[in-house]
Amino acid sequence: MKFEPVELSAAERQLQTEVIEFLDAELPRGSYTPGLGMSAANDVEFSKKLGARGWLGMSLPREYGGQARTAVDRFIVVEQLLRRGAPVGHHWVADRQSGPVIARFGTEEQKHRFLPAISSGEIGFCIGMSEPDSGSDLASLSMRATRDGDGWVLDGTKIWTTNAHHLQYCIALARTTPRDELTDKRQGMTQFIVDLTSPGLTITPIPFIDGTADFCEVVYDHVFVPDSMVLGEVGHGWAQNTSELAYERGGPDRWLSSYLVVEELLRRESAADRQGDDELLDLLGALVPMYWVLHHLSLSVARTIDQGGAPAVESSLVKEMGTRFEQDVVSAVLAYVDEAPNTGDQSLFGVILMNAALTQPSFTVRGGTNEVLKSVASKGLRPTGGER
Ligand SMILES: Cc1cc2nc3c(=O)[nH]c(=O)nc-3n(C[C@H](O)[C@H](O)[C@H](O)COP(=O)(O)OP(=O)(O)OC[C@H]3O[C@@H](n4cnc5c(N)ncnc54)[C@H](O)[C@@H]3O)c2cc1C
Repeated sequence: MKFEPVELSAAERQLQTEVIEFLDAELPRGSYTPGLGMSAANDVEFSKKLGARGWLGMSLPREYGGQARTAVDRFIVVEQLLRRGAPVGHHWVADRQSGPVIARFGTEEQKHRFLPAISSGEIGFCIGMSEPDSGSDLASLSMRATRDGDGWVLDGTKIWTTNAHHLQYCIALARTTPRDELTDKRQGMTQFIVDLTSPGLTITPIPFIDGTADFCEVVYDHVFVPDSMVLGEVGHGWAQNTSELAYERGGPDRWLSSYLVVEELLRRESAADRQGDDELLDLLGALVPMYWVLHHLSLSVARTIDQGGAPAVESSLVKEMGTRFEQDVVSAVLAYVDEAPNTGDQSLFGVILMNAALTQPSFTVRGGTNEVLKSVASKGLRPTGGER
């Protein structure tokens, strides 16, 4: 395990300043409703503005519309967006993981078709992994892909597919070899790029506890996917999917979901001239060092990637610690205000606290539960390394 200390270079600090100035101009306070980290709103026009600045697809190759920049540069941009609760929903998954996976495993045709459109913010992707009976144990999934002429027919149900009703494409993992013909359930799977307007798809939003309905059940009833939309090699879906999960973990999205609760609390207390109260200072004294630590651990993961490393263990640990901390923040603020969140409080602080209190159990579930992450980390830390 390696967490090297990281300092930002002058050029990286300059980028940070540019992002802050851009957000000051584009999202002045009061002009939008901030969201909680990556769960923030979809706003395709905002995504396009980021694309025009070169702040989407930052790590993608230039010949496909990307910027060929570093993981640290992307970290800098993303951290500032999340701190503002900026509307990142439309491009979030495409920028974080679908683009890099297509760049790595896609055909030339797929790269030319999808990567420029991801980098400009025009199209969004969602993640088609979980099924009603396959979450943590993803390798037990049962979605079938059956050979049919010059393509495949997909049948089955995906669940918790965030933003499937708003976005254009999904990368779905399906079984191309029946389970009973395999000795290892991780074999025989393939990733498909699915157009979400395909005939045979039924997308049903699922109401969430906070009143939103952003994740969906997606039923595939004989959905035809041409060979040209098979991502990577047939039968190699498990390894590709595992590499995709590595992009999902270790970034600032795993410890900033409840950050605005703290910022808005500070505004509220300052407005009431309570910024020097001991209880508030104790709260800040507990939270600020953890933000500092997680910021540096997460930044260190990004720098390791830029140096050619594969920090899977480190990313899993950052996500495990970061998401527990995001929850602790909400509990600490609730204890500080000493009142149950209520829907009657329509101040920005009240609305954000209410949302955070209702949704915080999901922080440690989405993207892999904490038990699973600890298992990934412990296997990676074995003296022999890796899974056996
Ligand atoms: C807000 C949100 C958004 C999501 N978005 C998406 C999405 O866009 N696309 C997508 O595909 N999925 C998405 N998911 C699904 C998410 O990836 C799964 O919920 C997650 O992988 C856990 O699966 P599960 O819900 O089936 O729980 P289960 O796997 O049934 O787990 C239940 C409990 O058992 C524990 N457990 C399971 N196996 C083990 C084990 N081997 N050892 C120890 N403990 C274990 C788990 O830690 C958990 O506490 C989303 C989930 C949430 C909450």
